Amino acid sequence: MARNTYNIDEKLESPFNIKHLLRSLAYTKKHTAKLIISLAMNMTINVINLFTPYLTMIVIDDIIPNGDMNKLFIVGAIYLVSILFTYFISYKHSIMMNGVANEIIFNIRQDIFAHVQELPFSYFDNRPHGKILVRVVNYVDNVANFLSSGLVNIVMQVFSLAAVLVFMFTTNVELSLVILSGVPLLVLLIIITKPMQRKIMIDYNNKSSNLNAYLAESIDGVKTTETFTRQKKNSEIFADLSDKFRRIWLKRIRFWLIIPSTTEILTTAVSLAVYAVGALLLTDCSIGVIIAMAAYAGRFWGPIQNIGNIYNDVMNVTNYLERIFETMDEPVDICDVEGATELPPVKGDVEFKNVTFSYEKGHTVLENVSFKVKAGESVALVGPTGAGKSTIVNLLSRFYDIDSGETTIDGHNIHNVTMKSLRSQMGVMMQDSFIFSGNIYENIRYGRLDATEDEIIAAAKAVRADDFIRERPEGYQTPTSERGNSLSAGQRQLVSFARTMLSDPKVLILDEATSSIDTETEVLLQKGIQGLLKNRTSFIIAHRLSTIKSCDRIFYIGNKGIMESGTHDELMAKKGYYYNLCTAQSREME
Ligand code: ADP
Repeated sequence: MARNTYNIDEKLESPFNIKHLLRSLAYTKKHTAKLIISLAMNMTINVINLFTPYLTMIVIDDIIPNGDMNKLFIVGAIYLVSILFTYFISYKHSIMMNGVANEIIFNIRQDIFAHVQELPFSYFDNRPHGKILVRVVNYVDNVANFLSSGLVNIVMQVFSLAAVLVFMFTTNVELSLVILSGVPLLVLLIIITKPMQRKIMIDYNNKSSNLNAYLAESIDGVKTTETFTRQKKNSEIFADLSDKFRRIWLKRIRFWLIIPSTTEILTTAVSLAVYAVGALLLTDCSIGVIIAMAAYAGRFWGPIQNIGNIYNDVMNVTNYLERIFETMDEPVDICDVEGATELPPVKGDVEFKNVTFSYEKGHTVLENVSFKVKAGESVALVGPTGAGKSTIVNLLSRFYDIDSGETTIDGHNIHNVTMKSLRSQMGVMMQDSFIFSGNIYENIRYGRLDATEDEIIAAAKAVRADDFIRERPEGYQTPTSERGNSLSAGQRQLVSFARTMLSDPKVLILDEATSSIDTETEVLLQKGIQGLLKNRTSFIIAHRLSTIKSCDRIFYIGNKGIMESGTHDELMAKKGYYYNLCTAQSREME
């Protein structure tokens, strides 16, 4: 999919296909027994209901004229018992089917979540997170409701139709034909409206998805919004998206109502026709038969109306399923290649051989980049913004696959080793260290759940995080909110250092924070970094001269590759790009 944003509708990448619906049945398989019981319960209720017009007919044609009170009492008792019985079954049925729906929701969500977690970075680069969220939450809810009750309902309505037809035709054939006369009109209407309905449903989902995407983005960026007092403009954008959603929602409702309204009109029309034809044309019809047949007209058109509603549901659900399966089928491009081997414990020799890479076809970010870094060496990556520093470190962990060339660790091509064995030996610390909700202890333990408390504390001590953690009243149990907003930027970095330290990677990647932090924290972070770097190959996207100078080698990245490399002194003597960068930075500092 091309890059998508909140104001761009997602294109459906596959045409309408009944296969999606059939595929979704896999989720109902383990509930087959319950679905059959549900069907049996529904059928029982239906058959009982079908007897009531029959009882009415007996009362009118037989009991009332003969004044037979005994019979009236018996019929009344049967009626009462049957009503109580149907209520009881309906209650049990409702509880059972809600349970099934919940399990289906659980299973689909587990599958889609598991898959989303495997997807490559590029998938998330191209989609607003709100649009992914809406698939996992809203669409799955809608689908599960249909799978748990809709399918049974279809069978049930067909069964009801068949049963009512039997009752109708055994009561009166001519009036039965009158009741059936509205069917061709309804079929024609369904055929005419179907394509339009699908189009509206797709549009409806797109507008709802866009709204969700903007909402998620706005919540993420709310601090920036408030800083720039952009609330009014953002509200306007939100209002515009809401309005588009409202319009399509109304359009959907209007279309949604066409089939049920038509069937309602047809029900009344054929019921009237039954009275008219029965009373005026058919001389051999008793009043009891006419009243029973009018009731059967309702009972016949009831299931037809329900089928109309189910038809609407099918149109919606297939659309949701298309989106859900599209996500589930999204190829995990970055995965273990066939025959991938385990990367043995490495020393940390890293090599790029003629690496060429582009995020999007035609826009090469790195071209024929080659370098060798020895185990234990530290390399500072410097250069202008957008030069490709982060890209180089992203490729080291195989977050993206390269277009050509080779990337090796200890001579092993990282493309041919398992992702788990590769990434478990790499430590990546992004500039904006992500802190999860929970507490500091759990955040440090994030990548190594089997770590002991002593190991966790030792890791925190090694990166100088222990002091600030102990200063907090709740120490390691200090609660952390999503993104770690309760911690300062420096503290977030220290926790992330400790997390990486605990996983003890052989190759370390660090994107140094650019945000201005106080000198005290900077000193603390520097000490933390020094603790981390010991005995590891490290790549640091460095912004501070002090960090750069402390590295063994410096790569100046620019023009799709490494323009200069060497130690600080060598590069200063060369008076090239690095020299200019340093002198500019020093001047700025002064
Ligand atoms: P640096 O870290 O040196 O600032 P990056 O490696 O982040 O630069 O980016 C190098 C180039 O690649 C930039 O032109 C940037 O716009 C582009 N780029 C970075 N990330 C992506 C991405 N996920 N999708 C498409 N282009 C990207």
